[in-house]
Amino acid sequence: MRTLGTGSFGRVHLVRSVHNHRYYAIKVLEKAQVVKMKQVEHTNDERRMLKLVEHPFLIRMWGTIQDSHNLFMVMDYIEGGELFSLLRKSHRFPNPVAKFYAAEVTLALEYLHSHNIIYRDLKPENILLDRTGHIKITDFGFAKEVPDVTYTLCGTPDYIAPEVVTTKAYNKSVDWWSLGILIFEMLTGYTPFYDQTPMKTYENILVCQVKYPSYILPDARNLLETLITKDLSRRLGNLVHGPADVKNHPWFKEVVWEKLLAKDIETPYEPPIRVGVGDSSLFDRYAEKELDYGIQSHDPYGYLFPDF
Ligand code: AMP
Repeated sequence: MRTLGTGSFGRVHLVRSVHNHRYYAIKVLEKAQVVKMKQVEHTNDERRMLKLVEHPFLIRMWGTIQDSHNLFMVMDYIEGGELFSLLRKSHRFPNPVAKFYAAEVTLALEYLHSHNIIYRDLKPENILLDRTGHIKITDFGFAKEVPDVTYTLCGTPDYIAPEVVTTKAYNKSVDWWSLGILIFEMLTGYTPFYDQTPMKTYENILVCQVKYPSYILPDARNLLETLITKDLSRRLGNLVHGPADVKNHPWFKEVVWEKLLAKDIETPYEPPIRVGVGDSSLFDRYAEKELDYGIQSHDPYGYLFPDF
């Protein structure tokens, strides 16, 4: 029906099933592009991870298919748009609003890590809001099952942890760093290591000196200082009690985690979705292009994606 978003190797479309008349989002990846960008393994991982996960704050995938040129992943359509759009519109979130979204993200990370999955691309663009205002994390393009450590440099510059920048061995704690960046961005409207060039951003990350504006409250600042730290022996989420240390931090003291997980808590913002399903007014518009989906012809890369 229309494009909802674009990525480096394809786009995400809003579609309507001719069978059950329900709306879905289909993410399409061009095989040749995936191969060219050396993302074959990541793409197969993305499919496997999405098939595996089942959590109220993670996107649900129904299945995958392929034609000669493209890979297709069929997901639930999440109507409320990106947290990114809401944040840019609001400039910055009041402390309780940032806390609500951060708490839901914390539960999602706790779940992923308990299944040995590192997410690796946490940022407001990948957090969607459902019609009631709860989050759904999408884009598992960098998610990976890692029992101990891994080395690949991936993610989005502003959100990458220093141990990833220096291509050292790293583990789940990179997601807790990114949670710190996310909370900082929600509270201030900008990321702490921002620069126009990724190279300079990486330099800033390695120096790791964050300037905290005075309106950031002391307990929020304390949490951020223990998430956005180079020192892995201090980084919350990576210590003996794991995610429990993050959940028990004073900034989260009002959060009733069991109620939140059951979505039994009023959300700070209900997306203004028009009656009926299939409203896409909360997504940015993208130029539509001629589509060539469904062609069965010469397929030089099909063997690389046996599970699709
Ligand atoms: P991705 O390449 O997975 O990051 O998706 C690109 C963009 O498409 C996202 O930032 C969202 O704006 C949109 N999108 C992805 N998945 C969905 C979904 N299940 N429902 C609605 N929009 C989506």
